[in-house]
Amino acid sequence: MKYRYAEMIWNEVKEAADQDRIAVLPVATYEDHGPHLPVDTDVVLCTEICQRAVAKIPLEAVLIPPVLHGYSPHHMDFHGTITISWDTFIRYVKDVCCSLAYHGFKRILVVNGHGSNTSPLDLAARLTNIEYEGKILCASVNHWDLRQAKEAGKTIRDSSYGGTSHAGEYETSLYLALKPELVDMSKAVDERSPLPPSFKTDLLAGTHSEGSSARLIPYWSSQTASGVMGDATKASKEKGEKFLGAAIEGLIELIRELGATEILPRRNQHCS
Ligand SMILES: [Zn+2]
Repeated sequence: MKYRYAEMIWNEVKEAADQDRIAVLPVATYEDHGPHLPVDTDVVLCTEICQRAVAKIPLEAVLIPPVLHGYSPHHMDFHGTITISWDTFIRYVKDVCCSLAYHGFKRILVVNGHGSNTSPLDLAARLTNIEYEGKILCASVNHWDLRQAKEAGKTIRDSSYGGTSHAGEYETSLYLALKPELVDMSKAVDERSPLPPSFKTDLLAGTHSEGSSARLIPYWSSQTASGVMGDATKASKEKGEKFLGAAIEGLIELIRELGATEILPRRNQHCS
């Protein structure tokens, strides 16, 4: 059974939609990831997690070609970053999702690999639901927010809060599990956010226990000299393999959960 959308003949795409398979769309970005990781880190992590998850359940899902560029204007002080204007990005992803909906896919899951894509992708998914007047379900998720990834974080990580943010223990471990030859661990650093607890971030842990869940995203170069926000020195290939397995498991669970979600009709009170 083919699971890669790109390799399907057009009538196979129709069949996949008729079978109510879930369309899984990876979205990432190219940007600096410290002195030890390539600029394609978010792309590699996100596309690999999606590809491996969908490959395990080809009867239930379809892997849509990824959206590789994302929203990273606050990273432009570091060479390598490519950023798309927020409104162009939202419309672009929404157009991809609406194209899938037009071809009959009723459930679409946007899987994100870059922190600052979170808000725009939430909107792109919601706008798709509105455009299709509630007749389809389009959801979005960050791969580090998948239930099993978060669970794995509690037991596998060695860094304290803040250690699994940008290019830190989580992302570096995952890259080591996927393409170790491209990681230079001799340059890995532990650099943390200078912000107070309510504004600190940690991909796996979410909110700091001493703070509120507020959002403040200053220019990246004002917060870190290396580009790292986290503890890359604690990363290992072994941890990466465990994180990867957990994320794949979490994504499969979420795909199935979306598949089991009923599309309930609108009850517009103006029409009664
Ligand atoms: Zn990243």
